[in-house]
Amino acid sequence: MKISNIVCEAATIPYEWDFYPTWYPGQTEKEQTIFIVRVQTDEGIEGCATCEAPFGILAIMKETVEYLKTFLVGESPFDVERLILRFRNVARIAARPWLVENALWDIVGKASNLPVYKIFGAARDRIRVYAAWGEIRSIEQRKEDAQQLVSEGFKAVKLRFHHEKMKDDLAIVEAVRDAVGDKLEIMADANQGTAVERATGGVPPVWSYERARNMAKEMEKLHCAWLEEPLFRYDYDGLARLSREVELPIAGGEINKGIHEFKQMLDKGSYDILQPNCTMSEGMSQIRKIAAIADAYGKLCNPHAWIPGLGVMQTMHVAASIPNFTWLEYPYDPPKITPDVFQGIVERYYVPEEDGCIPMPNAPGLGIGLDEEKIGRYRIKI
Ligand SMILES: [Mg+2]
Repeated sequence: MKISNIVCEAATIPYEWDFYPTWYPGQTEKEQTIFIVRVQTDEGIEGCATCEAPFGILAIMKETVEYLKTFLVGESPFDVERLILRFRNVARIAARPWLVENALWDIVGKASNLPVYKIFGAARDRIRVYAAWGEIRSIEQRKEDAQQLVSEGFKAVKLRFHHEKMKDDLAIVEAVRDAVGDKLEIMADANQGTAVERATGGVPPVWSYERARNMAKEMEKLHCAWLEEPLFRYDYDGLARLSREVELPIAGGEINKGIHEFKQMLDKGSYDILQPNCTMSEGMSQIRKIAAIADAYGKLCNPHAWIPGLGVMQTMHVAASIPNFTWLEYPYDPPKITPDVFQGIVERYYVPEEDGCIPMPNAPGLGIGLDEEKIGRYRIKI
């Protein structure tokens, strides 16, 4: 079997309500754009993968796929490890080629009549997920939201910090703990890893080391599961100091890249929980290597999965094959972030069941296809 062509397209699904993200306080998001890659073969099997794409970089992502195509057409989709260096060479100068690797795995699975996670080597067939919130809402609303999650069967929730003052961030954790007792594990994301906010002078505010440590100490008292991205993503030493000084697990890595950066973080002791993203850090098979290195250090790997369309499913196949894994991110902040808008273009929504777990699909490849009618309805020009 040979790769015959690679094409890409994009669909923009409008939100029913305006969405006010915690990661850009003051901004309003009105839609979700999903970038779709399709790798075609001479035997008629097509592999698909998706990720998010702000409108402004769609053209760059398309160019990346076009460029990568020149290195992959005529090659076997099974030869992922042999082709990895080509992906890495393209990644030097282009945006996120990893999605194409993920589509190759969809082909490998379909051609082998096996789900991808079975090919990787399954560690489990149900994925325990936490509801990842993303919106700025009142404390009273968050108490209700948390109770609603419990009634729906969720076992964990991730809050996001965004306030000027630490006490206002802490108040959300206290309120949720007060509302649900020990019925939910609570994680919190400080979103301090990105550079944009630092460059624009702190929106959301840039944390000092002391703020990170003080917040971690307070979260320990509230029996939280972890604090995510409390410092800049390259502050390996600051993160390592924090990890040594507090008992609360420190998590991060969603925008770090390549197995070598993760190895460095592990050498330094920066994180207790690595969170590589299988469309940003590297592709699905390379995230498994990051998880293996983490395992050798006695650390966890809970991949980051705020990735629309098939994105969480791609990540589920990775998570299902990682022994040192505990929780997967499931973007869910109803009534705004729901499978309708976030998974959007898939043929069947994948949702957690009463035990808070999503069963892995049995169908070959990624196990869920795309809804072509819906893509047609929301397709935009790149
Ligand atoms: Mg995060």
